[in-house]
Amino acid sequence: MYEYRNMDGMLIKELKAIVGEDYVITEHDNVVSYLYDETEPRLRPAANEDCVVVKPRTTEEVSKIMALADKNKQTVVVRGGGTGLCGAAIPTEPSLILSMERFKEIIDLDDKNFIITLEAGVTLGEMNEFLKTKDVLYFPCHPGDESAQMGGLVVENAGGARAVKHGVMRNHIKGVELVLPNGKVMNLGGKLQKNNAGYDLLQLIIGSEGTLGIVTKVMLKLYPESKFTGTLLVSFDSYDQATEAATKTLQSGIIPLSIEYLDRQIALRSAEHLGEKWPLQKGNVDLMFILSEDSEDALFDVGGMIEEICEVVGAVESLIADSSKDQARILNIRSNTYTASKSSILDSMDITVPPAQMPALMHGFSSIAEKYHASIDTVGHIGDGNVHNNIYLVDGEIPPYYEEMKEELYKLAIQLGGSITGEHGIGKIRRKNLPLQFDEIQINLMRGVKELFDPNNILNPRTAIY
Ligand SMILES: Cc1cc2nc3c(=O)[nH]c(=O)nc-3n(C[C@H](O)[C@H](O)[C@H](O)COP(=O)(O)OP(=O)(O)OC[C@H]3O[C@@H](n4cnc5c(N)ncnc54)[C@H](O)[C@@H]3O)c2cc1C
Repeated sequence: MYEYRNMDGMLIKELKAIVGEDYVITEHDNVVSYLYDETEPRLRPAANEDCVVVKPRTTEEVSKIMALADKNKQTVVVRGGGTGLCGAAIPTEPSLILSMERFKEIIDLDDKNFIITLEAGVTLGEMNEFLKTKDVLYFPCHPGDESAQMGGLVVENAGGARAVKHGVMRNHIKGVELVLPNGKVMNLGGKLQKNNAGYDLLQLIIGSEGTLGIVTKVMLKLYPESKFTGTLLVSFDSYDQATEAATKTLQSGIIPLSIEYLDRQIALRSAEHLGEKWPLQKGNVDLMFILSEDSEDALFDVGGMIEEICEVVGAVESLIADSSKDQARILNIRSNTYTASKSSILDSMDITVPPAQMPALMHGFSSIAEKYHASIDTVGHIGDGNVHNNIYLVDGEIPPYYEEMKEELYKLAIQLGGSITGEHGIGKIRRKNLPLQFDEIQINLMRGVKELFDPNNILNPRTAIY
């Protein structure tokens, strides 16, 4: 065990004066649990272990910490729930890790404007538990890990399975309180339905990956909850049948809450990891439709229409789960696919294409993998055009074709009108691939924005932009 080596002792003393002795962590053994996020171990950058963790409780404390860091040109990396999948929260140089774990207050539930205001350290799970007690109001986005915090969900513009019907975080964030890298505090957005004044800085902060400011409070739009939900599982022999069924369902005008795609081996691995049983046996790939309607009749009508579309395409088995227990079990297996396979995955990609281009992307992925004899599979939000194409380690090692294969996949996505990341973000692991998607003019504009917000480049440098 060693004490932090490089940070100026004076700075640590000043930090302790701001937040209190107990909330500045310098012992290496206690700092290590703040160094990594959930990014694939072989893909993530090595953390610099010369870090100090500071745990403020108020916006005023965050403001003072940032003013101090800016004055000393001290690098700061904000830490939310640590569930990120692009290495954005990993400090790669000696850093002050600013943990938001004490920002836990649910400040206000405005049931006249349908808006909830929370501190940035409240997790998705904590908010959902709270909303359950309020019966009718619910928040529609559901990224797969409920320990993600509000601040992290905002700055990563997280997506998740329900984006088919409800979009991503960006569509539901009404406002934030933000501390700038120099310590100044500002409020962006508000409870308005319309607001056309000036450039929309709130939208710039959403997706900024902890590089432009520290989110301390978040305002989210809530909605009345549809009372009837069901999960329809349908299996097919091949990925192109499943992809066609998903695309045809959307093109028929049906909008399920989500359409998830799972190669069977991924579903089986996750079920085994949880000690569960995947309920379908026939076929090789599965579609999981989550339906949400205002009446039971509507739920079964929509389910029936989807089953018909799937049958025409060649479905080999299907079942509908309507009890909340069975639905939760299936969703849990889907949510744990990454965790169950993480030790052998090299890269769980995050490509997005316009939904109608999904068949072309899946076909291209399969041909490219064949060309490199790569071990792959796919899981993800097929209804949003956003799937996670997994490339696996070979004998525990990164195969020599990996970079070339990845670049080929990114080029394919861009050629199909897509993006190299749909929801996980650029972070530290995709920076060097950004020029494939953006030209120099766009890259320079992004650099200019960063410089304007953070002229000393202290907040999460070398992240999100090229
Ligand atoms: C099993 C699993 C499933 C997942 N499923 C999904 C999914 O379906 N969809 C999806 O989009 N993502 C998914 N994720 C990724 C992850 O949950 C999201 O990216 C989430 O938004 C990260 O939030 P966090 O609080 O954990 O942030 P962290 O990982 O702690 O940090 C992420 C970035 O946000 C910054 N940050 C954190 N808090 C703040 C703040 N208050 N102010 C400013 N910057 C801040 C950090 O500095 C860092 O740059 C999944 C992850 C896992 C492990």
